[in-house]
Amino acid sequence: MGVLALTKPLYLEDSYLRECDATVVKFSDGRHIVLDQTVFYPRGGGQPHDAGKIVREGEVFNVVYVSKSGDDIVHEVDREGLKIGDRVHCFIDWDRRYKFMRSHTAAHVFASIVCNRTGALVTGNQIEEDKVRFDFSLERLDRDIIMKCLEEANDLFKKDIPVVWYEMPREEALKIPGVVKMAEAFPPDIPKLRIVEIVGVDKQADGGTHVRNLREVGQIRLLKFESKGRLNKRIYFTVE
Ligand SMILES: [Zn+2]
Repeated sequence: MGVLALTKPLYLEDSYLRECDATVVKFSDGRHIVLDQTVFYPRGGGQPHDAGKIVREGEVFNVVYVSKSGDDIVHEVDREGLKIGDRVHCFIDWDRRYKFMRSHTAAHVFASIVCNRTGALVTGNQIEEDKVRFDFSLERLDRDIIMKCLEEANDLFKKDIPVVWYEMPREEALKIPGVVKMAEAFPPDIPKLRIVEIVGVDKQADGGTHVRNLREVGQIRLLKFESKGRLNKRIYFTVE
């Protein structure tokens, strides 16, 4: 491993950035690459990792997995060959990422509506390629309530409502009602929190990538409602 480096996560500022130049600053096992900056989102916060490619002078290295390791964002490529100091160009698989952006924004809207209407707590949330899973903790959560919440969300997705993100001092951010919706997750102990605000709808501490307007989401449709015990309700929806 080389010197300690902090990767600049370009996707946090501009989630629509599909490519960037970068320099390899660290690698291990030949196939785990750290860059000085990246457009690749690492798996985390319920959002899957990006896929895509890293290109060095026409030579393609496919990115098969991206994860966070301490301050580093580690890109796992499909073969060896990259080395420290290499100048590369990164491209993300945009169709995959854009679907995750639409799903992630949809998830915030849906969770906000369910929590506001019922007082349920979110105990789990995972975005997948073809669906979004939610676990809520609430006894009286039934299919009818969920259908009403979906309808309300779909009405919002027809409106011209902006989504913005910015940093805020931690103390101030934690005073916002509902800013942390996961029952167990609590933002890491850092002085500033990144807030994703769906104007007039929801504010959440969040490190994911989102669309700029609710109109980009499309519509969501319930795939499955499961009662997994007295309090645990599991929901799958898809974004169309
Ligand atoms: Zn989120």
